[in-house]
Amino acid sequence: MTALLEVRDLSKDYPARDGKGVVRAVSNVSLALEAGQTLGVVGESGCGKSTLARLIMRLIEPRSGEILFKGQNLVSLSAPDLRRRRRDIQMVFQDPYASLDPRMNVAAIISEPLDIHGIGSRAERKAKVLELLDLVGLDRSAAAKYPHEFSGGQRQRIGIARAIALEPKLVVLDEPVSALDVSIQSQILNLLIDLKKRLGLTYIFISHDLSVVEHVSDDVAVMYLGQIVEYGKAAQVLHAPLHPYSQALVSAIPEIDTQKKKQRIVLTGDPPNPENIPPGCPFHPRCPHVMAICRQIPPELQVTQDRRAACHLYREGPGGH
Ligand code: SF4
Repeated sequence: MTALLEVRDLSKDYPARDGKGVVRAVSNVSLALEAGQTLGVVGESGCGKSTLARLIMRLIEPRSGEILFKGQNLVSLSAPDLRRRRRDIQMVFQDPYASLDPRMNVAAIISEPLDIHGIGSRAERKAKVLELLDLVGLDRSAAAKYPHEFSGGQRQRIGIARAIALEPKLVVLDEPVSALDVSIQSQILNLLIDLKKRLGLTYIFISHDLSVVEHVSDDVAVMYLGQIVEYGKAAQVLHAPLHPYSQALVSAIPEIDTQKKKQRIVLTGDPPNPENIPPGCPFHPRCPHVMAICRQIPPELQVTQDRRAACHLYREGPGGH
């Protein structure tokens, strides 16, 4: 089966602040997503997950790599072809306060993508806005109001309505609930799950919060300093992680660790700095299992026990499993 989305060896650099080196924001990331699935992408701030989202959205240019959507490489598409293809891939942003234009009323915000793509008559677009408000659980009277008249959760519902207005196939959700109160988070998560079922959507769900990702994901990719360090089925990665970094992340979230005698793994060493990526395994200065080889040779993401982990603990041969 052809994946709906396949990313191959995608990389993105930025100039370093000192003007000399480069920041490797995303390095050789590969992943694949079938239609109807949700891929959770997790990691700390600065791990490259939001850069990955913007690359997939084609909001920024990659240094190298391919982004195949239904087998078509978005990186090499002409501007008109890319514009047409954009209908199929939409994004929900983290901050519902910043992502909605305060000068536009809700009807204008939601129908703007339809206007841009010239979809439907004026009356049809108006009807579509009301239908979308119903879908995201907002009263139809919201259409005439402005963003400042809504709570954070309601604003995120407006952002979601706008994102699904063009009936996309893939929605990239970049920390969609992390700016919201905990009590509101589950309402928005339930809405996203419901919309996925009703509309046959496929999600990339980006979050630093593993307990949130667990609720929605089929597969999970764990990122550290621009690289995927573990990738596999959500239940396996989140309940029996292989990579020492994934193990530390999971150990910090009591509610998703099912081990009876759970022990929190407290990472020592400097927090990750994309401007100064250590040689060898980028995680080695913080890794409780570091070996001599880890300081010199970067581990490749390799298949282990039906999953992929970038760690010398799982390499074949002497010293590995
Ligand atoms: Fe730790 Fe070495 Fe594995 Fe990196 S390769 S995660 S330093 S054991």
